[in-house]
Amino acid sequence: MGYTYDHENIFAKILRGEIPNDTVLETEHSLAFNDIAPQSPVHVLVIPKGPYVTWDHFIDAASDAEIADYHRAMRQVIDKLGLSPGEDGQGYRVIVNSGAAGVQEVMHLHTHICSGRDLGRMIP
Ligand code: C5P
Repeated sequence: MGYTYDHENIFAKILRGEIPNDTVLETEHSLAFNDIAPQSPVHVLVIPKGPYVTWDHFIDAASDAEIADYHRAMRQVIDKLGLSPGEDGQGYRVIVNSGAAGVQEVMHLHTHICSGRDLGRMIP
């Protein structure tokens, strides 16, 4: 399965510094920032710095270092915002929309981390 990465997508522009973002944290291979249109009081997006379209593309093509960094970046966001239920936080939901069925709008892999309200049984 081939993937065509559009270098003009909005998150590529954010990574190049052409569009501002509200950074939560940055690691060697990943960037986390507040969603511009939050669907919950906490709504952070975590993106890899590399040119990956979807989660499956990322797993297929990224290095182990990038994959580890990405997941650790998510954990760092949860830690920084005090969301871990195991640490008396309020809990959270992680969402990755992929492709047409997932209604992915921005074709650069991103993980939504949502919290701050009861999110119900379905995705926001
Ligand atoms: O998963 P999906 O592709 O639908 O989500 C894209 C997300 O990117 C949306 O939640 C949207 O608000 C967010 N976005 C953003 N900053 C932009 C453009 C989109 O946070 N400049």
